[in-house]
Amino acid sequence: MVITRVWIEEGCIVCNACETTCPEVFNVTEDSCHIRAESRVDGKQTTNLSERSELKPDLQESLADQIEEAAEGCPVEVIKFDKA
Ligand code: SF4
Repeated sequence: MVITRVWIEEGCIVCNACETTCPEVFNVTEDSCHIRAESRVDGKQTTNLSERSELKPDLQESLADQIEEAAEGCPVEVIKFDKA
């Protein structure tokens, strides 16, 4: 599986579970989880809700399983992603 982009919808309860599962992509801040700048093509660090930046090409396959696991483990199901 390949995941091309991942973002956080509104409603994150900052539980830290996703960062524990996949710290290369998820960074939990005081008010919401963010998608790390280092993992994104656009180099911004936000929820990626409006930007919908793609993940860096070398991470799209290597981190796909971890991202899917993090999404399944999110208690409020706000981690969304596009598969290719
Ligand atoms: S697992 Fe979900 S609720 Fe918890 S910090 Fe991550 S995005 Fe937010």
